[in-house]
Amino acid sequence: MPPSIDSTLAETRSFAVPADFARQANMNAETFARLNRQASEDPHRFWGDLAREYLDWDIPFQQVLETDRAPFYRWFSDGQLNVAHNCVDRHLQGATRHKAALIWEGEDGSVQTLTYAQLHRKMCLFANALKHQGVQKGDRVAIYMPMVPEAVIAMLACARIGAIHTVVFGGFSAEALKDRLEDTDAKILITADGAWRAGKVVPLKRHADQALLREHEHSVRRVIVLRRTGADIDMQEGRDVWWEDVIAGMSADCPALPMQAEDPLFILYTSGSTGKPKGVFHSSAGYLLWTMLTTRWVFDVKPEDVYWCTADIGWITGHSYVVYGPLANGATIFLYEGAPMYPQPDRFWEMIARHGISILYTAPTAVRAFMKMGDEWPQRHDLSSLRLLGSVGEPMNPEAWMWYHEQIGGGRCPIADTWWQTETGGHMIAPLPGVAANKPGSCTLPLPGIGARIVNDQGDPITAPDAGGYLVIDRPWPGMLRGIWGNPERYVESYWAKFGNRYYIAGDSARRDADGYFWVMGRIDDVLNVSGHRLGTAEVESALVAHPAVAEAAVVGIPHEIKGEAICAFVILKHQYQGVDRDELGAALRAQVTELIGAIARPDDIRFTDALPKTRSGKIMRRLLRSLARGEEITQDTSTLEDEGTLQHLATLKK
Ligand code: ATP
Ligand code: MG
Repeated sequence: MPPSIDSTLAETRSFAVPADFARQANMNAETFARLNRQASEDPHRFWGDLAREYLDWDIPFQQVLETDRAPFYRWFSDGQLNVAHNCVDRHLQGATRHKAALIWEGEDGSVQTLTYAQLHRKMCLFANALKHQGVQKGDRVAIYMPMVPEAVIAMLACARIGAIHTVVFGGFSAEALKDRLEDTDAKILITADGAWRAGKVVPLKRHADQALLREHEHSVRRVIVLRRTGADIDMQEGRDVWWEDVIAGMSADCPALPMQAEDPLFILYTSGSTGKPKGVFHSSAGYLLWTMLTTRWVFDVKPEDVYWCTADIGWITGHSYVVYGPLANGATIFLYEGAPMYPQPDRFWEMIARHGISILYTAPTAVRAFMKMGDEWPQRHDLSSLRLLGSVGEPMNPEAWMWYHEQIGGGRCPIADTWWQTETGGHMIAPLPGVAANKPGSCTLPLPGIGARIVNDQGDPITAPDAGGYLVIDRPWPGMLRGIWGNPERYVESYWAKFGNRYYIAGDSARRDADGYFWVMGRIDDVLNVSGHRLGTAEVESALVAHPAVAEAAVVGIPHEIKGEAICAFVILKHQYQGVDRDELGAALRAQVTELIGAIARPDDIRFTDALPKTRSGKIMRRLLRSLARGEEITQDTSTLEDEGTLQHLATLKK
């Protein structure tokens, strides 16, 4: 039997659920146990009851789940509802009508608030405008916008009339935009004259013009342009129209179109960490149910919270946890337009204090970047409004977790380290803050109804504690992707085929500890093989980050005559350690890894750097580091790489 993936890093810290948090939590231990029991005894009833309780249906469903064409599952398919109605209209009664749905802060410090009633009006005007521009149910509408309220309005307007949106992150190049416009056959593109980023204008419209240059290669017939920066742009006669002009004269009355539960809500591309991005699409009802429930359970959202998810709407985190999940719960969301460290590294902390933000959801890459800048920045601000923190995107190194916990959470806020993917629609494995004790670096336990497990290369369950393997999901759930747009074969091939369609295969490796807690070990593609020992990248990286001088680390394998593979580590130092002797530090880091994990994981090669190649969503692209470490030319897809310059810099680093 092929070996499982070795786990050697022992993280023993544990933080109990604070008693006062547990008392007020949306989900307590009793409810958690009951839901888990119901989900395993009668899954159809479990999901059916939740869908009836939490969503507004135009036509109730009879059928909960259809499995006859597995792995193409269908949920609630004979029911009808509208997602925008569920996110906005149903909050128009009572006190929520005039409650803030959205508080936005521009990079220049200007603030705008939209109540649910105001959001409703703006959404309806724009939905009517889209119809007037010829958009029909099922048409694809591309959104390439800055983080402004109109981006959310555009998404909701599409949902209202049954158009399928595809949001393209505003930091992407013309080339990446063009690929997505072609792949989705978008009919309309919504963009802006520019986006503010660190005091400069990102020329969105110019990128859009480049992407649309060859008319026969795409199907975009109309470009709607929001004025945001006042930058000088070209408006193409007959094709381009201003946002304010398309809504002028529109009625604010626009009935929400009842949609079949399985009608696609959006298409969204994965981050491209492991290869060319996949154009995942999601359903209306199942997706909405899962984002709504997970927001309620995992973030414990309450009417009085000011909730901030820092993700751009161009990522799944922005879809599920900026827009759909929180709005479906009638929450107040905070939205920030610009660069995180602008004009200074304390911008986030300043805004938390200014707006009284109570829930903060961000990514390990951001936490490590703040940690690198030093403790003095958060310490200047009153962060006492925070009551819950969240993390998503990559494994959280325990030391970064501790920093987040102490410096940002003041030692009192539970941290929801949420494991999930573009494909899963919502959280899958995450600590419920009133239920599960936190262990730094662990995403803890599967949510009710989610069948997560670990299997070996043959697909057989691995039950031994701490033995790593493939992280798989053994039963369908409502928020799951419905496919890869226009490519059903790639859907089956990428996620199901390897184990004969028995499991959804996430592509990550993980282990479970003796308490049943899950620990993500890295990507299956990145597993290292040193002298017959298979090691996940996360543990070796965490052993490096545990050194006080290190802010971030990435490890990859390089061929080695005797060991099969040797470890090459790329290391970023904290600011105050930039000047230290690199040879001495290298030796100290090797000693530290040896002590924490064992000689097997000691890096042969350590390269100090200021930056790592990351996706635009902030994930380390180890596939590129692997090529660099091996001295190979990079011929892979780099369309989602944040900064080409990083590769050039890394290529010059000596062993
Ligand atoms: P691609 O699929 O194109 O390679 P990607 O997998 O990075 O890109 P996303 O869907 O944005 O695209 O990211 C999902 C991945 O992020 C997960 O498979 C996992 O590797 C990682 N991830 C997300 N949250 C966590 C977490 N809390 N702990 C560990 N890993 C996480
Ligand atoms: Mg992925």
